[in-house]
Amino acid sequence: MSRAYNFSPGPAMLPEPVLRQAQATLLEYGEVGASILEISHRGADFLAVARQAEADLRTLLTIPDDYAVLFTAGGATTVQALLPLNFAAPGQPCDYVISGHWGKTALKQAAPYVEARIAASSEAGGFRDLPPREQWQLSPDAAYVHVTANETIHGVEWRHIPDAGAVPLVADFSSSIASEPLDVSRFGLIYAGAQKNLGPVGITVVIVRRDLLERAGQPRAPILDYRAIAAAESMLNTPPSWNWYVLGLTVQWMLEQGGVAEFARRNARKAALLYDAIDGSGGFYRNEVAPAARSRMNVPFFLHDPALDALFLSEAKQAGLIGLKGHRVLGGMRASLYNAMPEAGVQALVEFMRQFQATHG
Ligand code: PMP
Repeated sequence: MSRAYNFSPGPAMLPEPVLRQAQATLLEYGEVGASILEISHRGADFLAVARQAEADLRTLLTIPDDYAVLFTAGGATTVQALLPLNFAAPGQPCDYVISGHWGKTALKQAAPYVEARIAASSEAGGFRDLPPREQWQLSPDAAYVHVTANETIHGVEWRHIPDAGAVPLVADFSSSIASEPLDVSRFGLIYAGAQKNLGPVGITVVIVRRDLLERAGQPRAPILDYRAIAAAESMLNTPPSWNWYVLGLTVQWMLEQGGVAEFARRNARKAALLYDAIDGSGGFYRNEVAPAARSRMNVPFFLHDPALDALFLSEAKQAGLIGLKGHRVLGGMRASLYNAMPEAGVQALVEFMRQFQATHG
């Protein structure tokens, strides 16, 4: 058996050295006489792992000291529900810029608790472009403005997220965190499920400006309270310790590879390879996103004849290329090109696409 190039959107491909290291320490971690899965999260051994992961993530993303970093369970969707509870006072509106499926989800998760307003949306155009800043209708009294940095399903990405004035920007970076340099200080809060660029599913990173933690928010149980979670170093209850550990290994790997500047270069090359192949296929393959809004991380594409979809997927699998089936919302294909995907994987995909077209075009 050999490992395929895995284009899954998340859980996604992990770097092989990370998997090997996780495997090597699965049975016995260091000198502790047990697996890291089996030891207390409050013991010195796990605390060292947790703190190192945070320190490394701070280095990788250049996170300023006035930001807390939380490691939570429940995925990015749970963060979406907790944003209004933590940061919007009763009666205070929250603004949402909707650029795809995940922006809509964020709005839906917040709607039971606050007045969640649509400040702008590109839905009328099928989410093939981003809502331009001139069209955002912001509420001056909003608790925050929520944006989705990269839409994993629709394949649209902000090359530069616009400012929102005095209202804090809250950004879902689930599918593009650590893919390029990021100025954290422009945001009130950044969150990301780890299962794309940060490693394993089951843990979510929330980077929040500390002063926002003092916001009144809504009445909520301590376990849903980001201030309490920050004060307890994300260990108010038992954290997903294995996931935290593997996240730490993945962050270390990214640092060793040269950090976010290096991944920005690699990701730009990978995305250009695939978009060029699609655009140069004479219509056999097509991507419908406006070129300036195209995602570097998730590339949805369609075959000119959907009757070929199943064959494309089965032949791709035989060629060692998996995870290419598009999301059910859009259909077609999607290739996710996160940091762990080597350029050789994209070259193999592009070569396969050319051969498939030559045979079936
Ligand atoms: N936001 C984005 C941009 C996503 O891609 C996803 C998952 N694919 C989510 C939110 C939801 O994440 P989770 O499944 O961790 O709740």
